Amino acid sequence: MQTKMLIDGELVVGAGEALDILNPATGGVIAAVPEASLEQVEVAVRSSAAAFESFAGTPPAERSAMLLQIADVIDRHSQELAELESLDVGKPWPSAHDDEMPLTIDVFRFFAGAARTMTGSAAGEYVTGHTSMIRRDPVGPVAAIAPWNYPLMMASWKLAAPIAAGCPVVLKPSEITPLSTLRLAELLQGVLPKGVLNVIHGRGPSVGDALINSPEMEAITVTGSPATGMAAMRAASKQIRHVHLELGGKAPVIVFEDADLDAVAETIRYGSFFNAGQDCAQPCRVLVADAVYDKMVASIEGQVGQIQIGGPKEDGTEMGPLVSSAQRDRVAGFVERARETSEIVTGGSKGTGDGFFYQPTVIANVDSRAEVASQEVFGPVVTVSRFTDADEALKIANGGSYGLASSVWTRDVGRAMQMTSKLRYGFTWVNTHGVVTPEMPWAAMKGSGTGSDMSVYALDAYTSIRHVMVAH
Ligand code: NAD
Repeated sequence: MQTKMLIDGELVVGAGEALDILNPATGGVIAAVPEASLEQVEVAVRSSAAAFESFAGTPPAERSAMLLQIADVIDRHSQELAELESLDVGKPWPSAHDDEMPLTIDVFRFFAGAARTMTGSAAGEYVTGHTSMIRRDPVGPVAAIAPWNYPLMMASWKLAAPIAAGCPVVLKPSEITPLSTLRLAELLQGVLPKGVLNVIHGRGPSVGDALINSPEMEAITVTGSPATGMAAMRAASKQIRHVHLELGGKAPVIVFEDADLDAVAETIRYGSFFNAGQDCAQPCRVLVADAVYDKMVASIEGQVGQIQIGGPKEDGTEMGPLVSSAQRDRVAGFVERARETSEIVTGGSKGTGDGFFYQPTVIANVDSRAEVASQEVFGPVVTVSRFTDADEALKIANGGSYGLASSVWTRDVGRAMQMTSKLRYGFTWVNTHGVVTPEMPWAAMKGSGTGSDMSVYALDAYTSIRHVMVAH
């Protein structure tokens, strides 16, 4: 198993403490992966800064070719990479391969095209005797921090856009799920010029902190929790750095009385419990019109009650374990506190065995201000609450600190348009939830972050607009 980091073009063993990487399905140790020492972090950031000098000037066509090559490498090794991901995160097989790898690969192919479309917006004489032009140039070396829920896909979001823009990246995957990213680093060693990609392993408060506070890094991009987003903003404030954040979510699913309730219930089954609910866009906060509330709860219970939980490779497994015992305990805590004031319709307890399993859980009659309906649980838990009219639904949905994903379910197009215009979320689906494509932004508002991943808008985080004026 590849456990070395990629620093300055070389695969190196971490000089820091070795961290046990656990199999969430069994609790057993898969590997012990040594962290980067602070000196190794420094070598990585210096390597990134040195690579910037030449990489920033690489023609877009060359960067595009590199991105296509990365996509091909991942494609060729998709089985192996998905196996690692399934083992490390507990993702059901073959979903780890069939559901996640296509988007991971396609993100690189999309940015291979996007790299060649970047243009400034104007050239002309705005002052007599002077010609102005607008350039869009790479911002500088990027410190990238990724989470554990979709390690390789999040790495692809953190790599493809900056490379398209001409920025080298020092990437730190989550310390609990580094395996697929470390293997990817090995696979890309010969694809990217030295220093364009450095991958370091280690914990957030030490290795991650050293990376985001490094004076060599000109931009910080984080996908993770709000606490890590705040740490990035603090680091950026000390040196005035660009910051791009994709943080937590608490997606409302607003169901009107004319909605297709069967479709909602199926989406909850397949969307809310995908990746054991550890998904920032998870449809987790179902708000239902009074008139169809009981029917909706029964329908969701019927679907969710059928979900088969088990080890990633067990026949019929629809949902695997949570990523860690800490995450499972956190989820269990939310449910226990909710139990006193609401009704657990299905689930509500830990699974059996040594793995970090938790039952798919639906909680009904939840006050929309309750902790479980307003804080991010990040696990296999869905709450169902009531509303009386569209205004109340909007008020509940727009309350709280998050602004990532949301969905509206109605057959009335006018109502759908009114709701989508007023929801304060980076993205809103109508009559579906969770469908993604690299052309469209994964955009964050409010406490869910700044800017977007995917789409041409992701390039904004990694480029600076410049004005050049020539007197003649
Ligand atoms: P986390 O914030 O605990 O960890 C994310 C990464 O940040 C890890 O690599 C960690 O080591 C690093 N980190 C932690 N503290 C740090 C510090 N002080 N300095 C630098 N780096 C630090 O988040 P997590 O538990 O891995 O992931 C779950 C969170 O990620 C959830 O809130 C989820 O909603 C969010 N998430 C958001 C998106 C999105 O696109 N918006 C996608 C996936 C996950």
